[in-house]
Amino acid sequence: MKLLKELVKEKILISDGAWGTFLQEKGLKSGECPEQWNKTHRNDVLEIAQSYIDAGADMIETNSFGGSSFKLDHYGLKEECFELNKLAAEISREAAGPDKIVLGSIGPTGKFLMMGDVTEEELYESFKLQATGLSEGGADAICIETFYAIDEAEIAIRASKENTDLEVIATFTFEKAPDGKFHTMMGVAPGDIVEPLISAGADIIGTNCGNGFENMIGIIEEIRSNNATIPILVHANAGLPLVEDGETKFPDTPEFMAELAPKLINAGANIIGGCCGTTPAHIKAIKATVTRTLSQVGISRMFSIPSC
Ligand SMILES: [Zn+2]
Repeated sequence: MKLLKELVKEKILISDGAWGTFLQEKGLKSGECPEQWNKTHRNDVLEIAQSYIDAGADMIETNSFGGSSFKLDHYGLKEECFELNKLAAEISREAAGPDKIVLGSIGPTGKFLMMGDVTEEELYESFKLQATGLSEGGADAICIETFYAIDEAEIAIRASKENTDLEVIATFTFEKAPDGKFHTMMGVAPGDIVEPLISAGADIIGTNCGNGFENMIGIIEEIRSNNATIPILVHANAGLPLVEDGETKFPDTPEFMAELAPKLINAGANIIGGCCGTTPAHIKAIKATVTRTLSQVGISRMFSIPSC
C-alpha cells in the first residue's frame, strides 16, 4: 500500500467516525473494558469497523484507544496488552480488506511524567507493546490521539517508529479558553505541537476530539501556519456534548458537518474524519460533500501542494 503521506498529495482522504460512543450504543457498560470486547464481542467490534468502510471511509481506526498496559491494568488485563491490540488490528483489517487503510489507535496512558507518576522507560515499554501488537495485527499506520502533553506524545511516537515500520500520526485535543485561544489541558497551543512532534518522527500531525468542525478550522489554521507541508489529520466531534435528561448528546448533524468540510480543507486539512458522537451517516455525508467539491474545483485549487 502507498504511504499515507504520498496518498494525501493526490486527494483528500476520509477517515472514520466515533468508536467509544458507538461501542456504548452496542451495549458497552461504564466500567467495562472496551478493548476486551476485541475478544468477547468480536462481531460487534467488526460491525463498527465495517459500517465505516460501508460509509465510504478510506481508513478506519482500531478498538485499542485505551489499550496501553496502564489503562488495561485498571481491569486486571495488563498482561493482555499485546494480544488485545493485535486482535484490534486484525478485526479492523478484516473489515478494511487489502485496499483500505487501518490506523492503529493509541490513546494517552493517563499518567503524567511531570507529576512523577511514571518513568520515561515505563511509558516507552507500554507504547512499544501496543504499537507492536497493532503492527502484528495488520495496522498500516499508528494513530497516537487525544494527547495533551508533548513529552508523552514524543515517547509514544519514538516507541512506534523505533519498533515498527509503520507511519505515525499524532493528534492533540485542544479546548477553547474564555479568551478564544485554544490549548490542551497542559497549556499546549496548536502551534506548539508542530516542531516537537515532527522532530520525534511523526509523519502526519493534527487534532481530534473536544471540538466540532467549527472550532477545528481555527486549530488547523494555527497548525498549518507553522508548517506548510506536513499532512494534517482532523477527527472532530459532532459538536460539543450536551447533557439532556442525564444523557450525553452531540448536536452536530451529518449535514452540518459535511457543509463545513470544504472549510477544513481550505484551512489545511488533508485527512478528515469524526470523533465522539459522529456516526457512519456523518462520514457518508462528509465524503459526498468532499467528493463533490473536489470534482468542481480540483484538488490544486482547494489547497496548494508545495513543489519545493
Ligand atoms: Zn473524541
